[in-house]
Amino acid sequence: MNPIRDNSNELYPDAFLNLIELLRGLPGVGKRSAERMAMQLYKWNDSRLAALSGILADLHEKIGTCPECGAMSSGKDALCPVCASSKRDRSIICVVEDFTQLRTIEAGGTYRGLYHILGGKLAPLEGRTAESLTIPALLKRLADGSVNEVILALCPDVEGRATEVYLTGILKENTTLKISRLAQGLPAGADISFADAATISAALSGRRPVE
Ligand SMILES: [Zn+2]
Repeated sequence: MNPIRDNSNELYPDAFLNLIELLRGLPGVGKRSAERMAMQLYKWNDSRLAALSGILADLHEKIGTCPECGAMSSGKDALCPVCASSKRDRSIICVVEDFTQLRTIEAGGTYRGLYHILGGKLAPLEGRTAESLTIPALLKRLADGSVNEVILALCPDVEGRATEVYLTGILKENTTLKISRLAQGLPAGADISFADAATISAALSGRRPVE
């Protein structure tokens, strides 16, 4: 039985209820919002709906992961715009948890280095161990010695700190590598994804060496 079916929904056909249920899976979308979105979609003409379904059907094929940093790219094995750019400083890598934080830092407009997307933070109780993050790929990128600084831009919460300590331990084995972290100024526990561009830029330019 459809979990959102109740008396007030009896007038909706099953296909409409299924659409509402799917839309409710999006972040921040409650039942009322999902109903409004579904109604809007129902009003679209067939060609617009076909365009949307085409985009959705091709999503995983047309959007790839950058083989260098793990950011979104425009197809399988395609470099992301940052890694493909000749204007970036290839001696600095900023380590972030996910693509959202990369976008936040890019919005700041001041960082000119490269990135590395970890794919999360360490949380062993939830099954996120070092092996499930892209730490081996990061070490591989550092192996040829062309990178001389790694900036750890992890969220200042408990898991972010644990990940930072773990990474620092591994990275310090490379004694010529400069390891830094964002300056204080981000509120404790704050999600970098939602920091404003000016705050991120200040935290980056004021970065400090990790002891
Ligand atoms: Zn990339």
